[in-house]
Amino acid sequence: MKKDFPPAQYAFAYRTAPTSGNTLNGLGETTPRRARPVFHGSGLRRLEWELLELFFLMTMPFRLFWPGVISRWVLRKGNGPVNPIRTPVRDETVMAAEIKGLTLMLGAGAVGISRVTDNALYEGYETPFKNAISIAFPMNYQEMEQVTQPRGGIETMRCYIEIAKIAVAVAEHIRALGWPARAYSESSDVLHIPQAIESGIGELGKHGSLINRELGANFRLATVLTDLPLALDGPVDIAVDDLCLNCPRCTLDCPAEAISDSKQLVRGVEKWYVDFDRCIPYFVKTFGCGICIQVCPWSVPGRGPSLSQKLLAKR
Ligand code: SF4
Ligand code: SF4
Repeated sequence: MKKDFPPAQYAFAYRTAPTSGNTLNGLGETTPRRARPVFHGSGLRRLEWELLELFFLMTMPFRLFWPGVISRWVLRKGNGPVNPIRTPVRDETVMAAEIKGLTLMLGAGAVGISRVTDNALYEGYETPFKNAISIAFPMNYQEMEQVTQPRGGIETMRCYIEIAKIAVAVAEHIRALGWPARAYSESSDVLHIPQAIESGIGELGKHGSLINRELGANFRLATVLTDLPLALDGPVDIAVDDLCLNCPRCTLDCPAEAISDSKQLVRGVEKWYVDFDRCIPYFVKTFGCGICIQVCPWSVPGRGPSLSQKLLAKR
């Protein structure tokens, strides 16, 4: 744990510092285990860092707080009654294409399907569902150039409202077909990133966010869990590591110095990892930060496909 947590210039200080977020996240642990919620939980259980979360909510401008309320309001329809007359699924590939078509038509930038993975569920949380539909919604690049100002946070929250609407509409459509489905967005009991990796939405970047071939890192995620039989996608290789291993951009630009230049061992897996104790206090102070997402070369509109093509050709 870093000794300067929270940083000296930061307005918030714990009298008794909570357990390091890195410890809770399993940094350095050699045995695989599920993640534990630390900050930004589903609201259903107590968090080790909940005082900082409370401070975050209390100091947030109203125009940023309000969209968060709307997004949660939209999600109240994430679960609901299932049509007792079930539409049989004769072809999982056709049904997957139908669901993906609907999701894209509703405004998603990317969609993928996978089996629910163990590492996408927090410790102590079980789900009866077997399939996951991962949904990505693009953020406006020009608005995200305003990150660390409220405008960047407002764009993020606008996207959370839009993606919640899409996820809820997809879940409602599936329930109308007679199959159970539940939509999850923002912080919830589902970890969207590991599930989206399985669904082929993208690969994990050095900045700890997912990178999609078309959307870069400039998007938000939601997940619909369901029992609807669907053809599955798989993880993709768009050459994210090929660039991250040689690119210093997010490491240098992160004001909190939270992004390590090398992969770390986290709960038994070697992967890119962001120092939680350094990132989150800065994130709280700057309306959700997001500098690392904005400066990432993949996030420049239209650049991803040619970047991926060049990197793959270089191998
Ligand atoms: S800024 Fe560079 S190192 Fe960081 S995630 Fe993007 S490509 Fe990887
Ligand atoms: S969100 Fe901000 S503080 Fe956190 S890792 Fe990215 S640039 Fe650093």
